[in-house]
Amino acid sequence: MKNRIGIIGAGIGGLTLAALLQKRGFDVAVFEQASKFARVGAGIQQSANAVKVLRDIGLEDHLRNTAFCPQTWNNREWDTGVMKHELTLGAAYEEKYGAPYFLLHRGDLHAAIASKVDPQSIHLQKKLKHYSNQGDQVHLSFEDGTTEVVDALIGADGIHSKIREQMLGADQPRFTGRVAYRTTFPASLMNGYTIDDCTKWWGIDRHIVIYYVTPQKDEIYFVTSVPEPEWNNESWSAKGDLGELRRAFSGFHEQVQRVLAACPDVHKWSLYERDPLPTWCDQRVVLLGDSCHPMVPYMAQGAAMAIEDAAVLTRVLEQEPEIPLAFQQFEALRKERTSKVQLTSHKNQWMSQRTDSDWVYGYDAWAVEA
Ligand code: FAD
Repeated sequence: MKNRIGIIGAGIGGLTLAALLQKRGFDVAVFEQASKFARVGAGIQQSANAVKVLRDIGLEDHLRNTAFCPQTWNNREWDTGVMKHELTLGAAYEEKYGAPYFLLHRGDLHAAIASKVDPQSIHLQKKLKHYSNQGDQVHLSFEDGTTEVVDALIGADGIHSKIREQMLGADQPRFTGRVAYRTTFPASLMNGYTIDDCTKWWGIDRHIVIYYVTPQKDEIYFVTSVPEPEWNNESWSAKGDLGELRRAFSGFHEQVQRVLAACPDVHKWSLYERDPLPTWCDQRVVLLGDSCHPMVPYMAQGAAMAIEDAAVLTRVLEQEPEIPLAFQQFEALRKERTSKVQLTSHKNQWMSQRTDSDWVYGYDAWAVEA
């Protein structure tokens, strides 16, 4: 009989792993602290390396119908709009890397992945309090007083991971002193003014990335990085001040001004990061996604790394029946790559000039030697 696998966290990483394992016959239970899934105003980029994994759970056609497929990914000077570096996407990108590049609403991606997980296996309002390795099992206790026993536990519980804390100590992720303003809004509010498919506008100490998130180009998303060292608040629902946001980007190119003038509402989110961790495993417990390699979003690879993790972990669990060994193999296979992406994101130079992106987009989690 296959092992019973517990996953803490029904984010993009946890649900992708659940879908991949269930497809292969594993007995999986997902425990999520939230009471429901919300569609907050955020976009997400999914590059070929992530799409190659999502293809396995049958999501490629769905994404082609619901996501925007840009033709280029532009990097422009903040004021003149002069092109610094242009990544060609569309058919050429797909042919080179074996899958498309999608831009979509984060809530739509999450819902698509969730649709591939057995709903009976997702347990909401289950906030993990504590785990303990006991022989061949892991005992779980939740804030509501309930308990569970699993054969293996995956901590896909995000940047403030309780499991990481128990494994490695209670230090906090580092606040970068910068905030992301972000929102999605109807393109109709632009009154016919059109923008690039996808552009990062590089300012001196700040930037803004703007793109469409639907094939019809009827919804626009932007996300910023702005220095605000005194504002340290992490909540998906915290609102930002539109006046402050517009002032922060005054003098930027007309496309930026038009987008910020049209947007009716904005969320504000502090940007955190961590250095690579010394270990991801504790016997029958392992970390995945932001719990072990959170990063600033400057390469748009955080969720993609969690999705790649899910594929590689699935492969080692299929091949190695000894759970602690499987988890060690997973960490060994993934850490160098995720550490490199964390550190490259930290520098915020990705695509500011001609950039070799093959090592990121060309990665195939199904082909990595396991
Ligand atoms: P999360 O998505 O954080 O999920 C963790 C889950 O665990 C949550 O549902 C949480 O409620 C649950 N949880 C936490 N603690 C407990 C507990 N004790 N018990 C039970 N459940 C618990 N990535 C990209 O690939 N492309 C992008 O374009 C992109 N843009 C981004 C823009 C911004 C501004 C930011 C901040 C990030 C961006 N990312 C992007 C990164 C991406 O959002 C994250 O890397 C990704 O969501 C990590 O997924 P995860 O499943 O590891 O964690």
